[in-house]
Amino acid sequence: MIKVERKITEKSRRAMDSLERERLKNGSYNTPEVNAALKEMFHGKCYICENKQITSYHIEHLNPHHGNIELKYSWDNLFLSCAHCNNIKSDKFDPIIDCTKENVEDMIAFRKEGYFGRDEKLIFDMLDSRIETQNTIKLLQEVYYGSTPQKKMEATILRRTLRKELSDFKEYVREYQESEDEEKEDLMYLLQMQLSSSSPFAAFKRWLIRDNKDVYPELLEYID
Ligand SMILES: [Zn+2]
Repeated sequence: MIKVERKITEKSRRAMDSLERERLKNGSYNTPEVNAALKEMFHGKCYICENKQITSYHIEHLNPHHGNIELKYSWDNLFLSCAHCNNIKSDKFDPIIDCTKENVEDMIAFRKEGYFGRDEKLIFDMLDSRIETQNTIKLLQEVYYGSTPQKKMEATILRRTLRKELSDFKEYVREYQESEDEEKEDLMYLLQMQLSSSSPFAAFKRWLIRDNKDVYPELLEYID
């Protein structure tokens, strides 16, 4: 999970208009305009697990609405998630960090230790002790490890996707380190993309750079 700007764009204006229309007739918040604006804003990524290879998208209410009209149709309360994360969060983890308002990476350090199966471990270090941060870490633990047999299977696939992404990223960093001149510039651009908010699992990639800031001080500027 990383911070995502809730910018005012043409798409988000249309989404807010459609939510207002639906609110008045107690209709559905799941409109084409809302979906288009969420996809643009979250770069097609689930805001919780940061996976981009999603086969099933859900519209997630950050604050569960329980029928509350304001929460149900409020644009600020709508987030893009995958089915796996939406089902796990449900109304169980409340409140969590609002990633459109706060810089999640300053509150949680995202790390992966080890390389293979059993010694591999994802770590979410708590950097502040607010209830929102505690709940977000509990949610992330369950998202990446699962609690029911089905969710454990889904979590295994999610961790496999994360492992592949991180190993590619580490390879780019290694190539960057060994390269010179023009090639180095190209790789620098590639790393900039890899560290941007549209990149899958960006929180883990950025923390890898933060944890090695003595080695790659020039890459720190790509992490806001
Ligand atoms: Zn997800």
